[in-house]
Amino acid sequence: MTGSGNNTYLLTGRGGSATLVDAGIGDARHLSALAAAIGGGRLDAVLVTHGHRDHAAGAVAIAAAHPAATFSKLPWPEEDAQYDVPWRRLADGDIVRAGDEPLQALHTPGHSPDHLAFWHQPSATIFTGDLVVQGSSVMIHWSRGGNLAQYLASLERLLSLEPRRLLPGHGPAIDDPRAILSGYLEHRRQRERQVLDALRTGHATVQAIAESIYDGLAPALMPAAQENVRAHLEKLKTERLVTHEHDRWTPS
Ligand SMILES: [Zn+2]
Repeated sequence: MTGSGNNTYLLTGRGGSATLVDAGIGDARHLSALAAAIGGGRLDAVLVTHGHRDHAAGAVAIAAAHPAATFSKLPWPEEDAQYDVPWRRLADGDIVRAGDEPLQALHTPGHSPDHLAFWHQPSATIFTGDLVVQGSSVMIHWSRGGNLAQYLASLERLLSLEPRRLLPGHGPAIDDPRAILSGYLEHRRQRERQVLDALRTGHATVQAIAESIYDGLAPALMPAAQENVRAHLEKLKTERLVTHEHDRWTPS
């Protein structure tokens, strides 16, 4: 599901102190590119947006190659334990130094419970992890801690900062943040209407709803589509717009 791979971002200060946003997976090519980019400097810190493997698993290999580096994220204990480095705890609002610049951690859950974005106020840039991907939509894995209502609130929070640039964990930099964030919010509102329509026309299970909405989707992508439908249903349930008994869902 990671498409063309994932991005990490290296911020280097005048004194040679470097900070990496996201750890990748520990791929040898990434490690050598990282060493080359640091040059004569020193990797002091790795800030991890969230505990998904493609963002956090590389911490172990980076720790071996850069013993001075600290590793920080918002805790998600059962996931973080897979990556054996001494994690430092970040919380919403914390300011960390990256190179010579301040970054503010923004707890932006929804894609995962531990998700952080990093806000560089002086340049109105946000390192957005997995909140947005140009030309694609973001997975909300309900069965792995995803929460659609939280995700939408996180997108609104990014919008309210009026960023000029988003630097995501996958895909290219985004220079029109308002367009993509508003587009995402509208897309989810539309999806929600489709889920409600499917329920009203008698589709009662996650599978039936997913098949009616994602008609013609490649079978390999259907589990992800079902996770997405489930995330919508759980949001609607919280809003008391739907109820369910076992695996059968009905509009309230
Ligand atoms: Zn992720």
